[in-house]
Amino acid sequence: MAEQHIVCYSGGLSSALVALDVARRHGKNNVVLLNHDMHFSVEHADIKRFKRDVAEHLGLPLTFASRRNASQDQFDVCVESQAFKVGNGSELCTARLKTEPFMEWLAANASKDSSTIYYGFDATEPGRIQRRIGIMGSQGWKTDYPRLWSDKQFNDTEAIGIARPCTYSVFKHGNCIGCLKAGWQHWYIVYCTRPDIWLKGMWAEEEIGHAIHWDGDQPVYLEEMQPRFAAMKAAGIPATEHIPQQRFWADAKRIINIKVLQQDLLPCECTEDA
Ligand code: SF4
Repeated sequence: MAEQHIVCYSGGLSSALVALDVARRHGKNNVVLLNHDMHFSVEHADIKRFKRDVAEHLGLPLTFASRRNASQDQFDVCVESQAFKVGNGSELCTARLKTEPFMEWLAANASKDSSTIYYGFDATEPGRIQRRIGIMGSQGWKTDYPRLWSDKQFNDTEAIGIARPCTYSVFKHGNCIGCLKAGWQHWYIVYCTRPDIWLKGMWAEEEIGHAIHWDGDQPVYLEEMQPRFAAMKAAGIPATEHIPQQRFWADAKRIINIKVLQQDLLPCECTEDA
């Protein structure tokens, strides 16, 4: 089997830069842009535009490893399984929408002898890289991290005439809107800008009887946060992930009485719990 270069192509900026550098180094023959296409209500149309634009620039097709029931978003798969987490505590939506289709695709289309899987992690993420090397390596898969290459050439897509997704103006990553792994700062943006997704999150919590967010061992339901977020919105607290979380919550606490355990959001991985 010919050498195969599989880019975990999420629709985010880093994975696009990885695709550009992998194609530059290896030529575009045998490069696969592997994407999990998310439901249109939670994956912004401009992310879908961006992944198409970069693929067209490279002259490569998009290859989809998506859940068979494409009508399901992160809330639907959780309600179907009546849980937000899988056994090891990681997000069920990642498992259903990304990991399982990814591993199925690899089993059917890739070879442990001749395939390399490329991720968009960079030098600020050594822990995630080590974890990925360990998980995939233990299953016999070879991985590589082009954002660490000393000869990488791409640091933005604007240089090739492709604007990054407009979602980066408020979000730091290309994750689903209403990400079940995200902290409250992300969900404040959802509250302010996507009331449809906020309501769907409330519906899922009610159907499952469990909260998406926890403060230690205490559940904190979206419904409880609603009046607080309304007060923050009325006070003009900006809905963005680009304000550092310490400053964001310091400003919020001037308006509402709240203790928030805020985690920095990381991009969702294809193989979170593989
Ligand atoms: S980006 Fe967030 S909501 Fe989407 S699959 Fe990953 S963890 Fe779930």
